[in-house]
Amino acid sequence: RQAARRIDGKAFAATLREKIGKVAADFAAEAGRKPGLAVVLVGEDPASSVYVRNKGKASVAANIESFEHRLPADTDNDTLMALVERLNGDPAVDGILVQLPLPAHLDEQSVIAAISPDKDVDGFHVTNAGRLAVGQSGFVPCTPLGCLMLLKDELGDLSGKDAVVIGRSNIVGKPMAQLLTDANATVTIAHSRTKDLADVVRRADIVVAAVGRPEMIRGDWIKPGATVIDVGINRVPAAEEGKTRLVGDVAFDEAGQRAGAITPVPGGVGPMTIAVLLRNTVVAAYRNAGLELAD
Ligand code: NDP
Repeated sequence: RQAARRIDGKAFAATLREKIGKVAADFAAEAGRKPGLAVVLVGEDPASSVYVRNKGKASVAANIESFEHRLPADTDNDTLMALVERLNGDPAVDGILVQLPLPAHLDEQSVIAAISPDKDVDGFHVTNAGRLAVGQSGFVPCTPLGCLMLLKDELGDLSGKDAVVIGRSNIVGKPMAQLLTDANATVTIAHSRTKDLADVVRRADIVVAAVGRPEMIRGDWIKPGATVIDVGINRVPAAEEGKTRLVGDVAFDEAGQRAGAITPVPGGVGPMTIAVLLRNTVVAAYRNAGLELAD
């Protein structure tokens, strides 16, 4: 059988970012200022540092003002909370993102809770989780929203599709399941206690894998023609001594023999996350300024 279509998240994200850049420029013309995104990084974790730099660069390229706050690793809770409060009150800041994970001595939950829900462009605040759960408009976490965009682009209407989400984290699995339910798919949420996972996955027209285990989902689990979205980012040893490479939660080559379409890792879901962050920031800017955002 012919190999699956490769879903090009990188290209989709680039188009989305270009569109957001235009909307951000429209906002600036109307509001007299650019949309603003504040990113807070505590400590020097190298991966987080790269993410923060990329978010800053992507913001600037999309006509969004970037405010970077890099705090030392030994920053105490009060200092971090005071910064969040200041950003909550800063009219130039529409979105606030605190890069996770925080150093162990800081309490992530209380920091997220301190962010104004109307500036919580990551969608991690309980108010936004609640809004998603009851169908009110708020901010939806960027990664699952990006996955939904790819699925709609690939399949159009998701009504009646059988979807399996593997993983139930607050930032990916749970909001993904809610978005798919809202899109009228029939959703199963699988996790580490699920029995006969392979059989559960075999029923699915849509598979979203957000587990964090390299190539755990095998090719023969995939229903022929299914659409597979691989959220996993796992670093594994490469063939060449001392080198590493990135793989997803799905065994790409195997699954690609049976799926109708599949996202690669890297170049699938990953690039969507930042693009959706920019989108959420521009939406926040319009809402915070009391302006109407045309669709
Ligand atoms: P978490 O570790 O928070 O959640 C993992 C989930 O997978 C849990 O619900 C867990 O179940 C489930 N799980 C673990 N082992 C198994 C198993 N053997 N069988 C079935 N389910 C299992 O991870 P995240 O949701 O934060 O992230 C998931 C992956 O996505 C990671 O690889 C991460 O790097 C990646 N990621 C990628 C992003 C992107 O931009 N592309 C953004 C965010 C994450 P249980 O609840 O029972 O423990």
